[in-house]
Amino acid sequence: MTEKKDLYSMLPEELTEYFTSLGEPKFRAKQAFSRLATGSRISELTSFPKALRERLERETLPTLPEVEEKLTSKIDGTVKYLFRLHDGSCIESVLMKYKHGNTLCISSQVGCYMGCRFCASTIGGKLRDLYPSELLGQVTAAERDSGERISNIVMMGIGEPLDNFDNVIKFLKLVNHPDGLNIGYRHISLSTCGVVPGIYRLAEVDIPITLSISLHASNDEKRSEIMPVNKKWNIKALLTACVDYYKVTGRRISFEYTLISGKNDTERDAAELAELLVGAFRGTGAPIHVNLIRVNEVKETGFKKGTPESVNAFAKALEARGVVATVRRKLGSDVNAACGQLRRSKMAENTQNDN
Ligand code: SAH
Repeated sequence: MTEKKDLYSMLPEELTEYFTSLGEPKFRAKQAFSRLATGSRISELTSFPKALRERLERETLPTLPEVEEKLTSKIDGTVKYLFRLHDGSCIESVLMKYKHGNTLCISSQVGCYMGCRFCASTIGGKLRDLYPSELLGQVTAAERDSGERISNIVMMGIGEPLDNFDNVIKFLKLVNHPDGLNIGYRHISLSTCGVVPGIYRLAEVDIPITLSISLHASNDEKRSEIMPVNKKWNIKALLTACVDYYKVTGRRISFEYTLISGKNDTERDAAELAELLVGAFRGTGAPIHVNLIRVNEVKETGFKKGTPESVNAFAKALEARGVVATVRRKLGSDVNAACGQLRRSKMAENTQNDN
């Protein structure tokens, strides 16, 4: 049997090749792209002859995510989706509603092997990378289910996007395509724990998304303790890559800093962080921006969040040293909106059912 095709991962030129190989006219590929890239099922391509639709169903992978579970926040309307994929694995996406539009936070892998100690997504390790179709499918499935148009995407869900580089780049081309969802690159952010070669590669492709770096500590000793990736690429290597990225692309980078009580949240930590970032970008003219968030308490990690006052003091200490700091508003606190937690509780449920 020939290997099944993943139609939803194909750009128009690849669809043209595929339809030509079936002996179909080229215009079918164009029709198919605009429908598939916006989340239609093959059965809905009713302008196609029935026999062709049936053949496509037989020969292609059903990569559209299905809504397995959905939680809606009573506080702010945030919707947390648990999607089931064709191989039975589950991932999460979170739809957040802001005045300026809807943002979807998507997953990039099934699980994660980066091992950040505060993070729920990494606890069971990485099972596999997501295909471009499954990255896109989170957006189209969330749009269909909610009836809302998504205008912004953040790659901050489960997984490390730069560890799934090629599929992420392909997804970006799919979601940005004018015949598809046509979401502008400037409306897309990608967050990385610091996969340095990926940052250099991203600087080389002409895709002007916003890059966020999960820094979370201001020296190697502390960072290596909470983020094992730092043992491979330390802070100096990471910031050197960030400066290169800024010089090549002219695009500002934002730094994520999760405050963990008693670990990295004192004013001394803030002073060290400001000195580190200001020093690294000195002479480049880059504005420096840090996003602060209090750690989400995950049962398995034991890390605790500090008081709102401690966050404000941290932000003030950064501002006093020329670093712009914003405190991220937390949405969906009643729906486990922090990534990885719904998938984990689902996995635990399944294990119990298996027993
Ligand atoms: N792997 C990528 C993207 C996924 S994580 C990355 O590391 O950036 C998205 C963000 O959530 C990262 O900044 C991550 O460090 C942060 N995060 C993970 N677990 C968290 C928790 N328990 N509390 C607060 N932030 C957390």
